[in-house]
Amino acid sequence: MVRLAQRLIRIDSCNPPGNEAWVARVLAEEADAAGLRVTTDEVAAGRTNVTVRLPGSGADPRTLVYCGHLDTVTVGTTPWTRDPFGAEVVDGLLWGRGSVDMKGGLAAMLSGMIAIRRSGVRLPGDVVLRALVGEEVDCAGAQHLLATGGMAEAAWMVVGEPTGLRAVVAHKGCARLRVVVRGVGAHASRPDVGVNAILKMARVLQELAAVDVSGPPHPLLTGSTSAATMISGGSALNVVPDACTVDFDIRTVPGQDHREIAARFEAVLADAARRDPDFQATVELTYDRAPVTISPDDALVTAVQGAAETVLGRCPEIGGVGFFTDASVLQPPTGVPTVVFGPGDVGLMHQTDERISVSELVDAARVFAVLPATLW
Ligand SMILES: [Zn+2]
Repeated sequence: MVRLAQRLIRIDSCNPPGNEAWVARVLAEEADAAGLRVTTDEVAAGRTNVTVRLPGSGADPRTLVYCGHLDTVTVGTTPWTRDPFGAEVVDGLLWGRGSVDMKGGLAAMLSGMIAIRRSGVRLPGDVVLRALVGEEVDCAGAQHLLATGGMAEAAWMVVGEPTGLRAVVAHKGCARLRVVVRGVGAHASRPDVGVNAILKMARVLQELAAVDVSGPPHPLLTGSTSAATMISGGSALNVVPDACTVDFDIRTVPGQDHREIAARFEAVLADAARRDPDFQATVELTYDRAPVTISPDDALVTAVQGAAETVLGRCPEIGGVGFFTDASVLQPPTGVPTVVFGPGDVGLMHQTDERISVSELVDAARVFAVLPATLW
């Protein structure tokens, strides 16, 4: 498994641009060599989703889905202590971009499936690994999987993103809102005949930032947040700007409707337009990733805990995380019970010097090997 994780890390699949085809090929090769059924699906040029199937006896039509992503974030500009694509193992730690998020998790899930196959155990239903492209940018792989009906068979889903081997039953969602204020362009020497979109934006921006985005309190998650993250306006030094754009990144909790939050922004803009006849603005939901949650009493959660207890000798903590996963795309439309569980320190995701404990990787693989039999 460590060798597989190393092979995956040594292939650059930083996103943008993604370019996951090569890492997909290695995963497919390893799964095929172990006697598992492999299919690939090209989402875009150079970008391939991989499906690895461990067929059951057919006694139960329900399928357990293991889900992960093939891309990573970029390596950043800060120099690394070790080569981000070197995949060196030093003092029990495997170093490299994607070791935590989440080539380590992919290697652990596939290795768990290979272990089941080698054991000769015949499960009543199928276990399917979906290794998807694009999670770090637009969830292109998950969108493609959903659109092509690939989730229809899923009865349960475990997303192998890093949780430090906690059973994560809730993660936040993300709504991005783009506010565009329109003005009227003019020569900079004649501001009196134009409408300055930057100044109009300035008058409403604090109000937008103060919009209440809070949702129902969740015992495992911190509250919802709103941050203005990008601003742009104007086209030249000598032109009164005819447009100004501000983007908001809003992190939400289960039970919140992103369109309802957008409507609150719209209300602020409508109010501004009533006060000022020259004020013109729109808001658009440009990115929509739903929060995901499951009852801690759900059978899937119990099975993950049971499998982990069998392997680790202790019951994993139930938790929540602030980041979102491909489950934001795959879970809400299908209603499939979903748990996030995987190896790696959440605090090292997307960081310089990303690294993962080899023993934690092995523990995760053992849990992924034992979970299906625990669930059935
Ligand atoms: Zn990830």
